[in-house]
Amino acid sequence: MSVIYKRVALIGLGLIAGSMAHAMRRNGLAGEIVGTARSAETRAIALDIGLCDRVVDTPAAAVEGADLVVLAVPVGAMADLAAQIAPHLARGATITDVGSVKRDVVEQVGPHLPDHVHFVPGHPLAGTEHSGPRSGFAELFDNRYTILTPVDSTDPAATARLRDLWTGCGALVEEMEADHHDLVLAVTSHTPHLIAYTMVGVADDLRRVTDSEVIKYSAAGFRDFTRIAASDPTMWRDVFLSNKDATLEILGRFTEELFALQRAIRTGDGDHLHEYFTRTRAIRRGIIEAGQDTDAPNFGREVARKENKG
Ligand code: NAP
Repeated sequence: MSVIYKRVALIGLGLIAGSMAHAMRRNGLAGEIVGTARSAETRAIALDIGLCDRVVDTPAAAVEGADLVVLAVPVGAMADLAAQIAPHLARGATITDVGSVKRDVVEQVGPHLPDHVHFVPGHPLAGTEHSGPRSGFAELFDNRYTILTPVDSTDPAATARLRDLWTGCGALVEEMEADHHDLVLAVTSHTPHLIAYTMVGVADDLRRVTDSEVIKYSAAGFRDFTRIAASDPTMWRDVFLSNKDATLEILGRFTEELFALQRAIRTGDGDHLHEYFTRTRAIRRGIIEAGQDTDAPNFGREVARKENKG
């Protein structure tokens, strides 16, 4: 593949920016990758592992002459960052982000940007519970969706170019309104994370009663919750603060369904439970058929372990 942007500035060098750097390198999509992070420690690690072609000390220095700028920091940090870089942005540059919430980013970042740049907010629907400059890998976005939420004034050519970059990184790309994105993600990602945090919190309270049994006998269901609940606290605090309305809407519906299931258990309504679980099983089948997960038992863990050993 050929170079899509001559100079890409990555601001924040964690899981997502690191994975973008690896994926862009895999297919030669960027002429040069310049990176910066908040802490000297992260910048030193990035330099040490050769994550970028150049690591610089400030966001202002990173965006100098860049034709693509990627904001890859927690959503709550983006407005300040946008204000810092605004006077240094090159004419005609595209500014994007990878934040998990879109309406808030549009409102917080957009007003800081000068008229001579293109703003194309984005969100790769791919991640792990790991963070930091060493956590990224080139395959993270392969066959996963990246959603772009261009604003009304965005030049379609700028969106198309960014779409090419994400496609080159292995992603499937869709465009969507920011509000719609936030509602969809409240259902598919944000509320499930909150539920996982809650369930692990409940077990933690219980652990004080049962000592280490919660850990020792942790079955698949609980283990999967703990993986999700190990996600970065800063990132997820910002997600809930910035996608407040959609998350509260979905949580309200969740609570209603939970009460209905609670009543079915209390009254011994097995038909209700069976019908409900049959419906949810079909959703799992749909995800596998769409190629978004594996149907190997235990989410493919046994297979992966065997392959690693081999
Ligand atoms: P990460 O691995 O924790 O990395 C975050 C980076 O942002 C670090 O380089 C950190 O610098 C920097 N940073 C943190 N707070 C900052 C601040 N106040 N000002 C300036 N820089 C700051 O995070 P990530 O998982 O890559 O997430 C980055 C963005 O991607 C977030 O907006 C998140 O919502 C979104 N996202 C995450 C996932 C996921 O599953 N993780 C998936 C899709 C989208 P230091 O290391 O120096 O502290």
